[in-house]
Amino acid sequence: MVKIYIDPGHGGTDPGAVGNSLYEKILTLKIALKIKEYLEEYEDVQIKMSRTGDQTRSLTYRTDDANAWGADVYVSPHINAGGGVGYEDFVYPGVGQTTLAIQDAIHNEVIKATGFNDRGQKQKNLHVLRESHMPAILTENGFIDNSGDAAKLKQDSFIDDVARGHVNGIVKAFNLRKKETSKPSKGYRHTVVKGDTLWSLSQKYGTTVNNLKKLNPGINVDALQIGSKLNITSGATYHTVKKGETVSELAKKYGSTIKQIKSWNDLDKNYTIYVGESLRVK
Ligand SMILES: [Zn+2]
Repeated sequence: MVKIYIDPGHGGTDPGAVGNSLYEKILTLKIALKIKEYLEEYEDVQIKMSRTGDQTRSLTYRTDDANAWGADVYVSPHINAGGGVGYEDFVYPGVGQTTLAIQDAIHNEVIKATGFNDRGQKQKNLHVLRESHMPAILTENGFIDNSGDAAKLKQDSFIDDVARGHVNGIVKAFNLRKKETSKPSKGYRHTVVKGDTLWSLSQKYGTTVNNLKKLNPGINVDALQIGSKLNITSGATYHTVKKGETVSELAKKYGSTIKQIKSWNDLDKNYTIYVGESLRVK
């Protein structure tokens, strides 16, 4: 069992940094709740948060709470300010190899998942790093007062990427395993996002790199194309759309339903399909 303490920075009467009509306390909570959600896909983890809403928490409350609970790792997402751009993280000065390895893993995975400008792995004497009795890391996820970073932080999909980066790092550092129940069903396809590799997808979906290669003949394994769809599991039939074909014809032809084809392929309400598009049809 790995006990993970997530401490979204600021909250309540303390807004943290403010800029570009964004509040640090709101962003850190969004990131932290997503981290919790994604971590729950893994076996043998327990998660506790310093706050799950807009509560005011003193720094002492936060570290006392984590220490009393006996956390194995302390992760505190923040948003930066003061005229910079990108991502950096902090551990306590002079910490040992265990904490440095966790910092390495989270740092690399956040950069991979977000494409943030990399400001490096740093050390600093901060309360939550000093007073916590377990390996602790504080992450600074972009600058609220930088218009480029702020524009990214306004997108929920980017917040998801930030959280996924943290989780991928924790997964690597603690060698976490996906829950069996989270294995995708037959014919599942994954849409490639920044940072995905065959290895990370094999970990995410509980399969192997070789299986993924077999299911996706001809893909460039060194540079997965962002936005492309990869077959994760077998058992499905795919059809390349030709001119004039409709979803209802394909459903008839393959003995499936319009509803199924719509949901397998994330089609919009008009069932828009394109010539040359590969659709799952059975
Ligand atoms: Zn902060």
